[in-house]
Amino acid sequence: MTAFLESQKKEFDEKKGVTECSICMFNFVGMEDVVQLSCSDAHIFHVDCLLGWLETLAREMKEKTCPLCRVVIKVKESNQV
Ligand SMILES: [Zn+2]
Ligand SMILES: [Zn+2]
Repeated sequence: MTAFLESQKKEFDEKKGVTECSICMFNFVGMEDVVQLSCSDAHIFHVDCLLGWLETLAREMKEKTCPLCRVVIKVKESNQV
């Protein structure tokens, strides 16, 4: 059963690119809040996971960067609702 799921997942990966959040390593499921960063179509994360990552960076006084490619994220703080 597990092996079957693994092979399914791999095939899905190849076609669609990203199926799981690279921060928590959980698969995305429908209707979940996800964020795609502008650095890459493949850099998609759960909103909560990305927020946690950004909080960690803020605590360490680092710039906001993509957890995968370390490109600086442009966040328009003033425009955020
Ligand atoms: Zn996640
Ligand atoms: Zn990235």
